[in-house]
Amino acid sequence: MGEQLPKILLIEDEAGLVMTIRDRLEEERYEVETAMDGLVGFEKAKLGAFDLIILDLMLPKKGGLDICRDLRQLRIETPIIMLTAKGQVVDKVLGLKLGADDYMQKPFEMMELMARVEVQLRKKRVPQKKELLEGYEFDDVVIDFKRMTVKKEGEDLSLSAKEFQLLRFLAENEGVILTRDQLLNEVWGYDALPSTRTVDVHIAWLRQKLEEDSRYPKHILTVHGFGYKFVG
Ligand code: CA
Repeated sequence: MGEQLPKILLIEDEAGLVMTIRDRLEEERYEVETAMDGLVGFEKAKLGAFDLIILDLMLPKKGGLDICRDLRQLRIETPIIMLTAKGQVVDKVLGLKLGADDYMQKPFEMMELMARVEVQLRKKRVPQKKELLEGYEFDDVVIDFKRMTVKKEGEDLSLSAKEFQLLRFLAENEGVILTRDQLLNEVWGYDALPSTRTVDVHIAWLRQKLEEDSRYPKHILTVHGFGYKFVG
């Protein structure tokens, strides 16, 4: 299983700039997805499946500041580099306050953008290994990561080690879409059984144990075309 290329979402409405930035990012071996208006961009960003978002400030349908604020409200913590046109009166402080991580004024050197992209991606990798959660609660489920116990309605549930590790990884990445490959690597490791089907099976077991109705899960969600996502 090769290393996954970092995925970058570029939300920008100037076609020329989209092309230039995308080409350059792809040269740097990033995987790039683009959106040319704010609404489409927001819908894509909301999935939480990107490692970085490059976000123009002035966009049709939904502006960069609104996108930034709404993403952070949804607890999507993907790093954001904001772009702004030359001469635009921009409240940099506001942008940063709304949750942007960096800010660049057009026109900029592509090399500088690439450097800042790298900084943000590096920054993201570190906090991804978050301090370990000690416990987690949702509905009537109480997970104690230290004691490795899970209770539902006060009753102890019996979870296998893998189910527990999987649940823990999901909960630690609340709101983030995780691919089957990611889950397989994180929970089973590289010597894992060859199939991502293993992941699906364990997800199904967890749902049966934890969800009120495993046919209509409310916490361990399937994100079609991507993988799974946990919401508390
Ligand atoms: Ca624009």
